[in-house]
Amino acid sequence: MFDWLVVGAGFAGSILAERLAAERGDRVLVIDKREHIGGNAYDHLDAAGVLIHRYGPHIFHTNSEAVFAHLSKFTAWRPYEHRVLAEVVSPTTGEAVRVPMPINLDTINKLYGLDLTEDQLEAWFAERAEQVDVVRSSEDVVVGKVGRELYELFFRGYTRKQWALDPSELDKSVTARVPTRTNRDDRYFTDKFQAMPRDGYTAMFAKMLNHPNITVRTGVDFAEARRRFSFRRVIWTGPVDEYFGHRHGRLPYRSLRFQHETLDQQQALPTGTVNHPAEATPFTRVSEYKHLTGQVHPKTSVTYEFPAAEGDPYYPIPRPENQALYKRYEALADAERDTWFVGRLATYRYYNMDQVVGQALATFERIQKVVPPAPVNDEIAARVAAGD
Ligand code: FAD
Ligand code: UDP
Repeated sequence: MFDWLVVGAGFAGSILAERLAAERGDRVLVIDKREHIGGNAYDHLDAAGVLIHRYGPHIFHTNSEAVFAHLSKFTAWRPYEHRVLAEVVSPTTGEAVRVPMPINLDTINKLYGLDLTEDQLEAWFAERAEQVDVVRSSEDVVVGKVGRELYELFFRGYTRKQWALDPSELDKSVTARVPTRTNRDDRYFTDKFQAMPRDGYTAMFAKMLNHPNITVRTGVDFAEARRRFSFRRVIWTGPVDEYFGHRHGRLPYRSLRFQHETLDQQQALPTGTVNHPAEATPFTRVSEYKHLTGQVHPKTSVTYEFPAAEGDPYYPIPRPENQALYKRYEALADAERDTWFVGRLATYRYYNMDQVVGQALATFERIQKVVPPAPVNDEIAARVAAGD
């Protein structure tokens, strides 16, 4: 008999499994239907020996000291600040150019052959920005700041490919993830902590799950676990609608197909990622892992991301009608006794890794308030019974 069945060995499940086992002495069974731990952050050596991320590039960044400190118990870090170039056709020369993304001072100067200063760029954007009274959609966010030409060059095609929706149909929060800058800062993220787990994500998860009270079974799905094991409570990190048998209909998710390639050369790209916003190009971006990992190797591996309707559910799709449907599932989840819903798919939130870690730690605190810990041995049982 386990105290907990944790469904999913990604960030949400692994963080909670460790807390429950280490802090409370609970006996925890972690399952994942995939053959490995780590969820979408799983990394491994490919056939050539290059460390790659099976589910696309994962770059860790956070402003939360608490999240960074917690993960630091399970890994050392390699400082890394991600940089991205976007390949677009210059409106002035008609040539393909690679320019910094997020759009910054250098992006505009290079694209238009200008020599603007920061202040001048502010005015340049203001001249082009469209009047948007209420910013609702992912189109509003961008055209309201930089105008239509840059929106079409950098955002419209990329977004239509990634989501199979026009930016006007998507919540503003989606394109708002990518800021616009007037300075020369070319980092993709500006968070206080930006680093990669020194030995990779999988090694970090292995350390987190390496506890005598934790049993890990990969290649096992929830249905099988229910037949084979007994447990008191569940941590669910899969899609919330799947848990409830799609009772209210399917929540939409967006998928990707990853094309991994190993090249017989030291380096393939000038930065960790090159984005391809043009709608005619079927992939959205290509990433080279050695930038992220710092690995020294005579070969290099890259991954192309092709958006797809079918496949693993990678992205909740932020738009009002989906949020309304999620609310109906959230009501069911709230009413579900002894099951806790945590993570990107279980709470239908477009969360980064650090946000999932924060959510899992907060869930643990809530559990601490309402679930009495399982006595692990006679001595502890006696102390619990004595109210000590
Ligand atoms: P997951 O990692 O999806 O884990 C859930 C697990 O549950 C899965 O392994 C799944 O197999 C398992 N599962 C589901 N249903 C069942 C079932 N019925 N039975 C058994 N097991 C089940 N975040 C960042 O911070 N930085 C990045 O650079 C970044 N890049 C990303 C790139 C891509 C392409 C994607 C898709 C996401 C990226 N993310 C990034 C987001 C990051 O992947 C997530 O925030 C994080 O991995 C979510 O963790 P999770 O535990 O909620 O879910
Ligand atoms: N986006 C875009 N052009 C870009 C980069 C991003 O239009 O060059 C939009 C697109 O809609 C994308 C969203 O901004 O889905 C968020 O980008 P981010 O890089 O955060 O996506 P993720 O890494 O989560 O896939």
